[in-house]
Amino acid sequence: MRLVFILFVGIGFTLSAQPQVYPPHWWVAMKNPTLQLMIHGPDIGKGKPSVSIKYPGVQVNNVHYPENDNYLFVDLTISPKATPGKFTITIQNTTIDYVLKPRRNGNGTEFAQGITSADLVYLLMPDRFSNGDRSNDRMPGLRDQSLNRDSIFHRHGGDLQGVINHLDYLQDLGVTALWMTPVIQNDMPNRTEHGYAFTNHYKIEPRLGGEEQYKKLGYELHRRGMKLIQDAVYNHVGLYHFTVQDKPMNDWLHEWPAYTNTTYKDQTLFDSYAAASDRKKMTDGWFTPMMPDLNHNNPFVANYLIQHAIYCVEEFAVDGWRIDTYFYNDLEFMNRCNKALLDEYPKLTLFGETWVHGTVNQSFFAENNLTVKFKSNLPGVTDFQTLFYGIQAAVNEKFGWTEGVNKLYQTLSNDILYKDPMKNVIFLDNHDLNRFFSVVGEDINKIKVAFTWLLTCRGIPQLYYGGEILMTGITNPDGWVRLDFPGGWPDDKVNKFTAEGRTNQENEVFNLIRTLANYRKKSSAITTGKFMHYLPVDGVYVYFRYDHTQTIMCIMNTSDKDQLIDFTKYSERTTGFAKATNVLSGENLTTSSPLTTKPMSLVVLELIK
Ligand code: CA
Repeated sequence: MRLVFILFVGIGFTLSAQPQVYPPHWWVAMKNPTLQLMIHGPDIGKGKPSVSIKYPGVQVNNVHYPENDNYLFVDLTISPKATPGKFTITIQNTTIDYVLKPRRNGNGTEFAQGITSADLVYLLMPDRFSNGDRSNDRMPGLRDQSLNRDSIFHRHGGDLQGVINHLDYLQDLGVTALWMTPVIQNDMPNRTEHGYAFTNHYKIEPRLGGEEQYKKLGYELHRRGMKLIQDAVYNHVGLYHFTVQDKPMNDWLHEWPAYTNTTYKDQTLFDSYAAASDRKKMTDGWFTPMMPDLNHNNPFVANYLIQHAIYCVEEFAVDGWRIDTYFYNDLEFMNRCNKALLDEYPKLTLFGETWVHGTVNQSFFAENNLTVKFKSNLPGVTDFQTLFYGIQAAVNEKFGWTEGVNKLYQTLSNDILYKDPMKNVIFLDNHDLNRFFSVVGEDINKIKVAFTWLLTCRGIPQLYYGGEILMTGITNPDGWVRLDFPGGWPDDKVNKFTAEGRTNQENEVFNLIRTLANYRKKSSAITTGKFMHYLPVDGVYVYFRYDHTQTIMCIMNTSDKDQLIDFTKYSERTTGFAKATNVLSGENLTTSSPLTTKPMSLVVLELIK
């Protein structure tokens, strides 16, 4: 990447005379008493100055002087007896104020509560959801000054106030947890809408409303009994990150003699036949030329990232932690990082992005039952397998020995690989994938089957914004699946946040999701129960969710004809139940006579004794 450095380093980068400290503040009474401060300022480390702090319970253990004189690293121990307050860090003639805050109230109950199968996650891209504050659409001083809703690559002006304005809408839909693409500052020249190129970990994107709005959103979510998931990126940063523009030390990044991209080939990480050079390219290659790869084997990089993760959970009241590009990270580092978060917040939910093809591949990156040398401690993953080799095949492929809904059956049968498949996040689409309504050729029956499956299968269901109003889009390129939610901008002609603004078909799907989402909140069988399924026959797939108090029977007819369902064929789960209620229509029926199911339908029955 030398070429890129010659071109980019230093361009537009000015180091402020006032030294900056990262993390900008910390807390007393953290379980881990150690803290490593990164101090960044002109020549702050020149001549290896001594560093002193005089504050009861705070001890300077070590000072590190990296190759770049603009940096210092200071190792502290904060005694459990230290009280909240302000102290001064003295570095020769320079003094810097630092604050130790009291821990956030309600630790373990009001935040860091974790995301479970009882939740319904809603993923949105804040630039594209709703514009609640026009004053922040374009911010002076930032590199990307675009603002153009007609371009899929420019900023559109959406922000956190826009999200806050629609929390009632989300709550009404049955959503309980919000996951947004990253809200951390991306001061990049272009393509800043997605948020995955951080330029300062400790700044919330001002175009989204900054720290204040992010805290307000956390408050507004928790006030409603809803939860916040943060999207974390450890693998890379944006090329304009201050630690790339002014590297603390020579081995901060993975640098290659000539630009080297990652291969995006996860197999190399677990394949016992893999060439070591392929593995190295996979992990140490850059995600894109604009996203330099961080060297997680550098302990200063590791501390910087781990402390930032803990800082965000405490500072912004985060409940769930989604980890971007999971397997591109150094996996040993990820285990240390996951452990550090879970040590501090035992109920926090972590799930990693595993865009791979194969259940073995995917389970390798989670807590699994595989006999392998490297064991991941990541509790859950984004379940691309039940999408690509599951529901997508079930509704789009003709039934066959290995095709159609047999693929869904096959993929779920591989759940033996995971330690706890209920911790996997299941979904139909996201910001990188074709919108599912387009995947099914805008077929209303297929999309209804898919959403019904999503809300009754095992795992944590996740919706992608606009799915509930049948937004369409194919990733050629990805901007087409990141369009604005109609009604999110004050001058929009239609407002699909309201029933009146939606078409009949959109309301039909919206209401289906709302009914099932609210039903499942109270359903122990769906949220904590077991899963049992029967071999698919003639395109009909029957699965049960059950526990000792409730039995839910799901009948997916993927064939092109009516199918008669004889309840006695499923006697292991239907015996003793004389009646049933159709959860979506409210109809009651008896199990003594067969039920006719329509082509491409999914009937959800609660069995009654
Ligand atoms: Ca705005």
